[in-house]
Amino acid sequence: MIDLHCHTTASDGVTLPEELPRLAESMGLSAVAITDHDTVEGVEAFLSSPCISLVPGLELSSVCEKDKCHIVGLFIDHRSEELLETLQQLQVWRRERNQMMAHRLTEIGIPVDIEEVEALAEGVAGRPHFAEVLVARGVCGNLNEAFKKYLGDGAAAYVPKKSLEAADAIRAIHRAGGLAVWAHPMARSNMTNARFSRMLDALFHAGIDGVEAYYPDHTATKKLTVLREVEMRGLLASGGSDYHGGGRHTGIMPGTFANGGPLGIPDDVLYKMEDRLGRGG
Ligand code: AMP
Ligand code: FE
Ligand code: FE
Ligand code: ZN
Repeated sequence: MIDLHCHTTASDGVTLPEELPRLAESMGLSAVAITDHDTVEGVEAFLSSPCISLVPGLELSSVCEKDKCHIVGLFIDHRSEELLETLQQLQVWRRERNQMMAHRLTEIGIPVDIEEVEALAEGVAGRPHFAEVLVARGVCGNLNEAFKKYLGDGAAAYVPKKSLEAADAIRAIHRAGGLAVWAHPMARSNMTNARFSRMLDALFHAGIDGVEAYYPDHTATKKLTVLREVEMRGLLASGGSDYHGGGRHTGIMPGTFANGGPLGIPDDVLYKMEDRLGRGG
């Protein structure tokens, strides 16, 4: 069993990049990928703890047909100059957005200083770190409440993030030698099969390599739908837990559903990717 979607302290996870491999191993996994939001800062440390198979990656926030979509890059060269330049731009956009969110919060009577939020984040600062500040201050009882009232899409202090077009995210991943995977396509409650299929056609056109079928929020039916659509187009199936740890995505561990049960992502998923990259052994 494997897990190709995990976060660390390089973005909004709680596990250190160098500790993720051992944690995944202790969960009985034979491979794990590091996929932090808009950064490869954790990759070097992650790769320095060899035990099980380690896949360097990242997760790019992007937009496809005016809808948000996350693109996971796997097997990327984390030293690629071009990729690092793209990530630099994303950091600039994030910082601008964080400043606007701090401003919004201050306007509605919760003075938040961006330095305070950034100090809390070891890597890329985002909404989860704002949520932590609100909880630490006693403004909200928990992270969920912070998202519901202030930070979630459409909430009082929400500011949309400028992000890449999916085609550009896919291109950036390809130029860094990686495979591009559409992350958690069916996790949104309002995602219909028809919409999924239409977005997948657009992403296919843009060169997507695979789609996450195995994901904690995907019902068995959704997983089968994704597997069918992926197979029809000759794409790769992928998946992972989206492990963050702590109060985020409660209960989920590398390789598991929120209830602790195994996601059951077969090793074959990884072998097929290695074949596609011409690294099959
Ligand atoms: P950002 O990339 O700054 O927009 O932050 C998005 C991240 O916030 C996601 O990757 C999740 O880790 C986290 N998140 C989103 N919704 C919630 C929620 N309701 N409770 C806790 N964390 C959340
Ligand atoms: Fe996250
Ligand atoms: Fe995501
Ligand atoms: Zn993720």
